[in-house]
This record gives sequence, structure tokens and C-alpha cells, in this order.
Amino acid sequence: MLEVAEVGNKISKAEYKAAVPTLRLDLVNAQYDLREADFPVIIWIAGDDHVAANQMINRLNEWMDARFVDTRVFADVGQEEAARPQLWRLWRSLPPKGRIAIFAGGLLGGLAAVTWAALKGDPPAPLDRLVITSPYGAPRESGLHGGVDIRAPEGTPIRAPFDGVFGHFRADRPGFGGSLSTQDGTTILLGHLSAYCRPDGDWVEAGDILALSGKTGHTNGPHVHLEALRHGVRVDPVALFPDWPWEAA
Ligand SMILES: [Zn+2]
Repeated sequence: MLEVAEVGNKISKAEYKAAVPTLRLDLVNAQYDLREADFPVIIWIAGDDHVAANQMINRLNEWMDARFVDTRVFADVGQEEAARPQLWRLWRSLPPKGRIAIFAGGLLGGLAAVTWAALKGDPPAPLDRLVITSPYGAPRESGLHGGVDIRAPEGTPIRAPFDGVFGHFRADRPGFGGSLSTQDGTTILLGHLSAYCRPDGDWVEAGDILALSGKTGHTNGPHVHLEALRHGVRVDPVALFPDWPWEAA
């Protein structure tokens, strides 16, 4: 459905004028039908053209039965909202079943990206390119390699591949690193970082930048050491995240 809305369709003014009366009637009838439904409908307006967005909101309000539609504009984040996960304000604004809500506002671009990724079912990989320079289980002086090494120039942003809690390793430890953990027992560890971009213990969402890569700790050059754990047990990250765009060096 979303793919269809994104193809840049155009119609002529004459076609538009001819179609509008029927569409308006259908829209109001759909609103009445919806009142019996056991789900709400969200009309989500996201984009950079604020004038066009306002026109669209005004038109929808003009066309629909105002008794059964709510408009919520997400402006600056309030104090209460700032203390919560980013999606909380959206969740709090969900309409009850049988009603339509129009959502608009600056925050929605980011939320749309997250939702889009979730709908498409391909969560973001932590780095744009995942070139493995040393695989999981490779023999090392200190034992077998506990993760994969990913080629990355110093300062490459590392993104959260899923929602979770971000943690800092002690900066005085060799291999200055971070961790991202979900409630259902998945953790990734990131080593040799040059900087953290989120505080220790912060709740982050898929796509948020967690840290910058570096060459701290025991390493010959800049790269990201990535480990994966399921319920505390180390596993091969390539096997745990088969959909990520892994590449051989
Ligand atoms: Zn490594």
C-alpha cells in the first residue's frame, strides 16, 4: 500500500475535478463504515513541504465529517515526552477504534523512516558496508575470535540495528566499546570505538547513531569488532543477522 502512495502519480485538473465529488462521498461513507470497525485509521502526513502538508490537512478536515476525525500536529517535544522513548508521543496519540486521526509534524519524518523500515521487514545494519576482514571463530593468539571484524575508517557512524538499551564499556578497558541489548535476550558488542554518541543506559531506536568507530585497544588499524550474544552466549553475528549486507574482504 505504501509503495503505491510513493510513485509520484499525477492527474490533470479536469480529471481531478471530475473525480472529487465521488471521492468526497466515498470518504465520508468510509468514515461511517469505520465507526463499526474494531481498528482505528491513521492518515500520516510526512514531508518537508509544510505548506502542502497544511493544505492537505485542511482539505481532509473540510471533506470529512469533523465529528469522527482528530488532527494531531507533533511540534516541539514537551518535557514529559522528552523523558520517554521517541515513539511514546505517537503511541499516546493513537485514536480509539472506529476513528480517524491525521498525524503531521517534523518528528514524523524520522518516525516514518523507522516505521517504513519495520513494515518492509529489513532493520538497518549497523554500518552501511559490512566488509569482514576477520571472521567469527578465526584462530588468534588469545584463542578463537569472538566476533567479526568490519572494515571501517575511523569516525564511521555505527547505527542501532534494532531498538534496545545502549551501554558503555569502561573507557579505561582495552578495546573501548559499547553494547546494545534487547529485552528478549539479544546483545551486540562493539569494540575499538572512538566516541559514544548516546549516553550509557540510553534507550535507543533502530537507526539511531550509537557511536563512532575507531582503533582503540588492541588493534593494528581502524575497524569495528562486533560480537553477538543470545541470552549471554556468543554466536556468529553473520548467522544471527543473515539479512545484513555482509561482504567478504
Ligand atoms: Zn575482532
